[in-house]
Amino acid sequence: MARAAISGDSGTRKLLLGNEAIARGAVEAGISAAAAYPGTPSTEILEALAEVAEEYGVYVEWSTNEKVALEVGIGVSMMGLRALVAMKHVGLNVASDPLMSLGYTGVVGGLVVVSADDPNAHSSQNEQDNRYYGLHSYIPVFEPSGVQEAKDMTRELFQLSEEHRTAVILRTTTRLSHSRGEVMFGAVERVHREPVFHRDPERWALLPPYSLRKHREVLERIRTLEEKLGEWPFNRFVEGDGDTLIVSAGFAHAYVREALDWLKVNPPLLKLASTYPLPRALAKRALEFRKIVVVEELEPFVEDQLRAFAQREGSSAEIHGKDLFPRVGELNTALVASGLSKALGVSFDPPRGNAAGVELPPRPPTLCPGCGHRSTYYAVKLAAARARVKPVWANDIGCYTLGFFPPFRMADFTWSMGSALGIGMGIARFSKDPVVAFIGDSTFYHAGIPGLINAVYNQYPIVVVVMDNGVTAMTGHQPHPGSGYGPTGEKRPAIPVENLARACGVEFVEVVPAYEVARLRDAVERAIKYAREKNAPAVVVARQFCALEELRMKRMRGEAVVPYVIDQAKCVKCGICVDQFSCPAIVRENGSIKILTELCAGCGVCASICPAKAIGPLSG
Ligand code: SF4
Ligand code: SF4
Repeated sequence: MARAAISGDSGTRKLLLGNEAIARGAVEAGISAAAAYPGTPSTEILEALAEVAEEYGVYVEWSTNEKVALEVGIGVSMMGLRALVAMKHVGLNVASDPLMSLGYTGVVGGLVVVSADDPNAHSSQNEQDNRYYGLHSYIPVFEPSGVQEAKDMTRELFQLSEEHRTAVILRTTTRLSHSRGEVMFGAVERVHREPVFHRDPERWALLPPYSLRKHREVLERIRTLEEKLGEWPFNRFVEGDGDTLIVSAGFAHAYVREALDWLKVNPPLLKLASTYPLPRALAKRALEFRKIVVVEELEPFVEDQLRAFAQREGSSAEIHGKDLFPRVGELNTALVASGLSKALGVSFDPPRGNAAGVELPPRPPTLCPGCGHRSTYYAVKLAAARARVKPVWANDIGCYTLGFFPPFRMADFTWSMGSALGIGMGIARFSKDPVVAFIGDSTFYHAGIPGLINAVYNQYPIVVVVMDNGVTAMTGHQPHPGSGYGPTGEKRPAIPVENLARACGVEFVEVVPAYEVARLRDAVERAIKYAREKNAPAVVVARQFCALEELRMKRMRGEAVVPYVIDQAKCVKCGICVDQFSCPAIVRENGSIKILTELCAGCGVCASICPAKAIGPLSG
């Protein structure tokens, strides 16, 4: 069996993803546990750790949501052990409640919270800059600038976390998380610690009498770090020519290095790896320059801190940043070179190609062939038509968000995890039209349950369609509480969605296979009627295991997929399969409609909806 990506002895060199490098750094630091909720671009961190869980004795879990993941990490730290917690940037919003208190309490065992930000919102609903969470919660923020550094810095941060009794935020971005680079492995620290609960109620019980004292303590901790981080080896001054200093943070530093090569200039550089708090000595040294140019992705986080520091110090240094570089979207070398050329007064001819921002042709987003979400949308649309209603379509976060696009157009809004129910209820209270909320199974466990309880308690006539495909599909098929197994494939108890819905007090709960369009249509029609008449929520679970994962498992078992074909003699060219159902395996070609058998997943749903009975499995 091939060795796991992050497995190896000291001195081993491997090509790793940024996320794998972070996982390796955590292993080298001797972590005892890791917890995460899957979310691009952070997912590979826990996946890499799961592969070596047994080898290095690390407990790993996919938690129900990011808040729970962080709380598990805090508990491990209270036992004196090291833990890593990982999530995407919007996941930290979910975990922000315990995060705010974590700033006050600090930690015992080292605790690294990885926030994988997504400039350009490649796979997210926004491009929020999570460094502000550090500022807000008094938790120091660190930003590696390359893959090797991601590994090395993660390892060191556990030490720093324990030394200063504080959790730390390691902020990565999509570009770094998904870049590959050669990484030299270090030794794996075997942290032999007896797990002991550090009983200290005055520290851990966040009660009013202690909160002010803790607030003072944490301010002192941040002041200490301001002094100490000046000597931290990942922060570096690089001598150069001229009186303009370039300050860069995180992956922006890699763009700066390349841009300076393009521009053939060699100004002095300050590479900041710790961006909150700003190391005082380095900030002071920066103010010795006449002009300072800050290069960072998204918000002027370092720039604003530097401006505030300059004002306090009475400095007249000229500070630039977001006047030269965009605040929206990702940076790239061309954008950085363009901004630096203006700041340094040198000429710059943008190169041709993508680095200069040339747009690639857009690829229309679509659900996979054989996806149960497609037949669910199709069936729900039929149900609404039969019930003669025009529902407000409330949609949540997952693959099924693709219901937004034609031909379905069944997402009037999509917001944040679980909000199809919450916002849907606000609409349902005053809407004459019914509200139908779509939510995936993983999202249901993550954030849907409180909404459902609210719907029962406060009597909302909302129809909830849980699109249950058995895994967290969008992020790469990670298991969740309904899957029946854990991150290393071990058996875990499965908690079916319908049991939870009934336990929440929902009286109308039906489970229907998502491929059975007619049954599903009828169930949703009944649900719409029930919700209206009883002024109560109705839940329909549309269940079909993820088609992509099913295909992969079939291949592994050596089972063939039987594709479907269209009998051209029977086809009346009504267009239902190609225009209204819109499976990507069905296409128009030279006036006919045909199935691309190499794309067909063999689900057979098109055969069930064809009015001419023209579709069937390929025989022979
Ligand atoms: S649904 Fe059937 S009859 Fe209609 S276009 Fe498709 S194959 Fe032809
Ligand atoms: S059987 Fe029909 S609906 Fe299913 S994947 Fe093949 S073409 Fe698409």
